[in-house]
Amino acid sequence: MRSIKLTDQVVCPDGCEAFEADRWTFINAQQDPELKEAILGGELNLFCCPQCHSFFYGDSDLIYLDEEAELLVFAFSEKNRNQRKKLEEKMKHDYSLLKDTLFKQVRLDVGPMYVFGLEELKTLLLKEQARIEESQAIAAAAAALGMPVARLVPQWARENDFPLYTAAGTDETAKTFADSARKVLQEGLKSPLLKHFADQMQGDGAQAPKVYYEHTEKTQRSLKNHRPVRR
Ligand SMILES: [Zn+2]
Repeated sequence: MRSIKLTDQVVCPDGCEAFEADRWTFINAQQDPELKEAILGGELNLFCCPQCHSFFYGDSDLIYLDEEAELLVFAFSEKNRNQRKKLEEKMKHDYSLLKDTLFKQVRLDVGPMYVFGLEELKTLLLKEQARIEESQAIAAAAAALGMPVARLVPQWARENDFPLYTAAGTDETAKTFADSARKVLQEGLKSPLLKHFADQMQGDGAQAPKVYYEHTEKTQRSLKNHRPVRR
């Protein structure tokens, strides 16, 4: 599934004459990693007005997919910031359609996230990149202790500000997951995400963590594939 760009009429914010330009509307980060880099570098959908030569961003909707990171983000136009409620509904609706059509081949089932504008998208990607790197360090530390690594359901992990991987508990209960996480932390790993996870799992009435038990192979693969990005 390729990334998609449209040729569009673009209007410079200084009110110059409209001109034609290519604008990305769908980014598949796995297929086109250079487009992810362009977002992080602030170069995506950046236009130069042929009349006044000023640079500006194309302010329009964009969908960002990173299959490996299980990340799907709707970046809505800045100008629609006050329509949060309506767009949230639209996103849910569009996602249910995409799941059965465009995304069918990737069998992606993640809760989508949304932001407004490319700057917020960039911030979110950097935050998630940091989560991936910290999660890899946790997985490596657990493996070094001979503990099995568990992969948490990404949407659940992100909603709760947990890492994507942790040392698996000895059973499926929150308590043994808390114990395993503490064991890794006691070895000296500095990980605010893991500490937060351990604290939450330790709490009275903590729900069992949402873990992908069947995805060990995928965990290995995504651990291998995630390389730090250029900042
Ligand atoms: Zn202009």
